[in-house]
Amino acid sequence: MKARFLFTWCIFIRRKNYNTSPGCADKIVILGSGGGRHHIRTQYRATGGILFHFNNIQAHIDPGPGAIVRINQFNEDPTKTELFISTHFHLDHFNDLCTMIEASREKLHDKNYVYKKKGTLITTQEVLNFIPQYHLNMLEKIIPFTSNSRIKYNGVEIVGTKIEHSHTNGFGVRFNLSEYSIAFSSDTTVFDGFEENFHGVDILFLNLLRPNDIICKRHMNTDQVIPYLNKINPQPKALIINHFGAYMDSPLSKKNYVPSQVIKIKRETQIRSVIAGEDGLNIKISELLNKV
Ligand SMILES: [Zn+2]
Ligand SMILES: [Zn+2]
Repeated sequence: MKARFLFTWCIFIRRKNYNTSPGCADKIVILGSGGGRHHIRTQYRATGGILFHFNNIQAHIDPGPGAIVRINQFNEDPTKTELFISTHFHLDHFNDLCTMIEASREKLHDKNYVYKKKGTLITTQEVLNFIPQYHLNMLEKIIPFTSNSRIKYNGVEIVGTKIEHSHTNGFGVRFNLSEYSIAFSSDTTVFDGFEENFHGVDILFLNLLRPNDIICKRHMNTDQVIPYLNKINPQPKALIINHFGAYMDSPLSKKNYVPSQVIKIKRETQIRSVIAGEDGLNIKISELLNKV
């Protein structure tokens, strides 16, 4: 119902030649489809995180190594970022955070050397302990966040989702907008109740490090996650798989397993729109919501 409303509204806006509807302009830009140490080192798949544009706000989620390079490479504007989110204290999720905070403004200070404050940072206390006070002082607002957190940001509800991942505390993040809901799983393995984070979500962005049944204690593989995807009620309209590890696609893997994982998920779930992340991929939210 929400999707139909958004579609109609987008058509109306297009006919009227307006470009002011937040939902119509919302998009995701993948600044990195790789995850883990191999891709950090080789950049075979980039590790710059994700830009999420919603309600005329630009958020940068998990700016890993090379984020500043990728945002320029893919013709996005770092000065437009006003919301920074780092989901946990691993390099591929926070390494370029200070760079992106500094790059989010054209001028650092006025002629009297008063530093301009801009932007909101949502992250774990562990990441905050690592960020220099110099960069923290550049921000308007700092929000320590956990998997139990729930805040309102410019009218949008942002909710932490549970992860089980390594020794570090962290969170996934879900945005409940008036027109749709989207969740970014962050790094996690599956666990009892994993699906409960995502009931009612329209778009799910899943960090799927490994293909088929290749086990990693800290991450999920395709065979592990499919039963949990089937328990999400209702099924998401679209699933984006991303943050692929070395076993999924790299010179160390036998082949690029990504296309076969898309086919498998489509075959074994009711989710009809399954999209594989690629470096620089630009996805309009309205198109995800209208695909059946
Ligand atoms: Zn990661
Ligand atoms: Zn991690």
